[in-house]
Amino acid sequence: MVRVMRKLRILITAGPTREPIDPVRFISNRSSGKMGFALAEAARKAGHDTILVSGPVSLPPPRGVRLTAVETADEMRRAVLREARHANLIIMAAAVADYTPAEPARQKIKKNAPTLRLLLRKTPDILQELGKRKTSAQTLVGFAAETSLVLPRARAKLIAKNLDFIVANRVGIPGSGFESTHNLATVLARDGRRFPFPRLTKRRLAGCLLTLFTKSM
Ligand code: C5P
Repeated sequence: MVRVMRKLRILITAGPTREPIDPVRFISNRSSGKMGFALAEAARKAGHDTILVSGPVSLPPPRGVRLTAVETADEMRRAVLREARHANLIIMAAAVADYTPAEPARQKIKKNAPTLRLLLRKTPDILQELGKRKTSAQTLVGFAAETSLVLPRARAKLIAKNLDFIVANRVGIPGSGFESTHNLATVLARDGRRFPFPRLTKRRLAGCLLTLFTKSM
């Protein structure tokens, strides 16, 4: 029997967000965007309609993928919510900043004072919002980077954000993770299954992840 693959609409987020402190400074996260871009490339290669929403990265846009470039968490939220309604599979690989300066200064802050206090407000949790709006036709995937208690924390996040899968990474392993070409991940599924992957290039891992997420769609 030949199984005909369904063409899906896949929305992927990548990279960090930048939260302005003043016109020349920002708060951000360590993220090269490589994992999200590799996922977008794998999705496009598998023949799916692929949309990538990315924060500032220095990677060439993958060919055949519709790319929306954003800067802040608020901008990412707007772009993602706009695209999410039409997506079957949503993979949130972006390292969205959790806090943003409450009142970014309009002028460059002068360095006269010995200390400087910044008031931060929480950014909207885009993935949580997507989890609340999720339809039965959608599969929702999140990422969890943790320094300790990686799998229990990832599982708690999967439940709290109503996800179908979560990709758990331990932060601080030399030769994998942020900015690296390789990654070491364990995927947890909503039904309790666990998929540990060996250390792979982000490109190869992206292919494996995509197969796993789309297998039952
Ligand atoms: O809770 P935590 O931020 O660790 O969860 C990580 C997951 O949530 C990632 O998939 C990330 O893209 C997403 N996220 C989000 N909006 C935020 C923070 C994280 O969508 N404000």
